[in-house]
Amino acid sequence: MTKNYIAGEWRVSSEAAPNVNPSNTNDVIGDYARASAADAEAAIAAAYDAFPAWSRSSIQTRHDILKAVGDEILARKEELGRLLSREEGKTLPEGIGEVTRAGQIFHFFAGECLRMAGEKVPSVRPAIDVEITREPVGVVGLITPWNFPIAIPAWKIAPALAYGNTVVFKPAELVPGSAHALSEIIVRAGVPAGVFNLVMGKGSIVGEAMLQSPKVAAISFTGSVPTGRRVAQSCIAADPMKKVQLEMGGKNPMVVLDDADLKVAVECAVNSAFFSTGQRCTASSRLIVTEGIHDRFVAAMQERMQNLVVGDALKAGTHIGPVVDQSQLDQDLKYIRIGQEEGARLVAGGELLNRESPGFYLAPALFTEVSNWMRVAREEIFGPVATVIRAKDYDEALEIANDTPFGLSSGICTTSLKYASHFKRNAEAGMVMVNLPTAGVDYHVPFGGRKGSSYGPREQGRYAQEFYTTVKTAYTFDGNAA
Ligand code: NAD
Repeated sequence: MTKNYIAGEWRVSSEAAPNVNPSNTNDVIGDYARASAADAEAAIAAAYDAFPAWSRSSIQTRHDILKAVGDEILARKEELGRLLSREEGKTLPEGIGEVTRAGQIFHFFAGECLRMAGEKVPSVRPAIDVEITREPVGVVGLITPWNFPIAIPAWKIAPALAYGNTVVFKPAELVPGSAHALSEIIVRAGVPAGVFNLVMGKGSIVGEAMLQSPKVAAISFTGSVPTGRRVAQSCIAADPMKKVQLEMGGKNPMVVLDDADLKVAVECAVNSAFFSTGQRCTASSRLIVTEGIHDRFVAAMQERMQNLVVGDALKAGTHIGPVVDQSQLDQDLKYIRIGQEEGARLVAGGELLNRESPGFYLAPALFTEVSNWMRVAREEIFGPVATVIRAKDYDEALEIANDTPFGLSSGICTTSLKYASHFKRNAEAGMVMVNLPTAGVDYHVPFGGRKGSSYGPREQGRYAQEFYTTVKTAYTFDGNAA
């Protein structure tokens, strides 16, 4: 059984759970520890005790550790990518791509350790200096979802450690393998005991222990809206209150205008809606298409979708891997039924597929004749299910794009500078894409959304310091008043 890492040692738990390959449910990757509330409390206590020394550790030490983590991740990207694809179901190139990104993130934050700076400004009063500096927050609890098993942990752990915080990391139940491998690398890089702790286990036990503990100063959460709400309520109600950052769901629009390059639009739509099996918070599930190109776009999508190979994530030539598990598959099928009951037309896919091995294989589904009020257009499905919504013109397309409770990513395909610029200014989303898929972002710039998708400061890039540090303003009277 694989173990949790608590207070500088690998510890067995009384419970374990199998990690199953969604491409082949006969393939069990391993039995992974399930931490108890007591394990979580031990991890929190260790992180709390380790904080004073780590918060004062030299930036060179932190740099060297993060650099070593990035080096090992990148050196082992094929092997780690294979593990990731095997446990989560994204294709091997996608798995290796995600691991590469995780390595780059550690390198980026290794550099950030050396770039920490404050400000020295004049006071409005004579003979006084004002210094503004950033300090670490304390013990941070990191709670992550299953769909990016290494990149999301990386973009939380790396800045947390870089800015001098200590970490209690709780990965999603479905993907402990990548989390465990990443933790081994962090430990090997020389992180002192207690500074980094891994507690694999259930949200209702380990996650709750983190929310309840007064020793945890901040929680960074990525996951679904209902869990995010629960996390936020606990953090605000806590005594002392916790700093909280939430990245949650999406129902991201991609607008296709009459003047779009049809090929570009179809590639953007297929990538946004179906790659990574549609299991990305930045996936586009609302393709909003103007009248003049609508029928050509739908026909081209149907043709393109016929060439999409759905299969074992690890097999060469697979474009789309399986759905992550039975319960997500049930949710996808439920929404496909709901779409049909609501009067949308299923023009491609939506059926279960049999492959050589038993797995959760679903043909990507495309609905047309969809209205933006339908549940398939309003609620996050989190699977390979996309809807096409017809719009009269650009103005109506923009209105539909913004008519959603979410606001993570928003895209447009057009060859018009006028519409592209207008859309960038008026899309109600944290990220806007022009002639690009709604998913697929750089690691050195801020990531996050608005409205129901996100809460709190942005993640990634140097913007991450907003969450992982707290600002101090120091005043010094230098005695030269006369
Ligand atoms: P989830 O909300 O079910 O779980 C997320 C994490 O929260 C898991 O680690 C889980 O164990 C934990 N958790 C569950 N209950 C908890 C509790 N009571 N207290 C503390 N922690 C608890 O989400 P999921 O199914 O793992 O992931 C899919 C969701 O994540 C989708 O909605 C997707 O859009 C979202 N997501 C968002 C982003 C983003 O950056 N906006 C990125 C990836 C995924």
